[in-house]
Amino acid sequence: MAIYALYHTIENINVYHKYMTFNVDLHVHSKFSGDNDADPEETVLQAIKANLYGLAFTEHYSYEVSEYAEHLREKHAENIKIFRGVEFSSADGHCLVFGVNTDRLSIKNASMEEVVSIVNEKGGVVIPTHPFRGNNSIGESVRNLKGLCAVEGYNGYSHHSQNKKALKIADELNLPFTGGSDSHAPQEVGSCYTEFNTEVTQDNLVDLLKAGEYRGVDIRKISRIWPF
Ligand SMILES: [Zn+2]
Ligand SMILES: [Zn+2]
Repeated sequence: MAIYALYHTIENINVYHKYMTFNVDLHVHSKFSGDNDADPEETVLQAIKANLYGLAFTEHYSYEVSEYAEHLREKHAENIKIFRGVEFSSADGHCLVFGVNTDRLSIKNASMEEVVSIVNEKGGVVIPTHPFRGNNSIGESVRNLKGLCAVEGYNGYSHHSQNKKALKIADELNLPFTGGSDSHAPQEVGSCYTEFNTEVTQDNLVDLLKAGEYRGVDIRKISRIWPF
């Protein structure tokens, strides 16, 4: 009887696992981006409250400024997974980069095409962010880029109509789409996120992003536009 009960418990865990999603906010800023005063640990605590499986600190311009995340990752390992990337400013607009330390690459003032080519060669991935927000956004030129991993479909600081265009172009280009809050204050984390079907780890994040088995999600009731 006990064995039967145990078997059923294991089976139920497997069934549960099959339908479980792993929600990761792939686009988070803190005061280390230089354009806000968000304390990264407050953001982490808020993300835990919001039931996120993980979040990625993607500060503006530099990968290395998010060094603090290594300590937070250890400290909160029981409750949340913390990843690191960067929101790189290419000459054509912003893009998320994961899997490489962009500070060590010669890509200052590079076009997004050059960034994609160099990052891909090093084994990383590039995802244009808020492609239709206007400022710092690649817009229709995204069509000319080869080698993109995905397009950011849901951005928490873009208007729904702008995200809709991003989703449409991802579909046209046959690319997966991510979601990220683009949070610049702790309470904004998780407004948009990326839903993975597989457990995400430090080791497999880049491979999962390449594999494309995820989708962006927007849980905002009202959309708003980044004021700058
Ligand atoms: Zn941006
Ligand atoms: Zn951003």
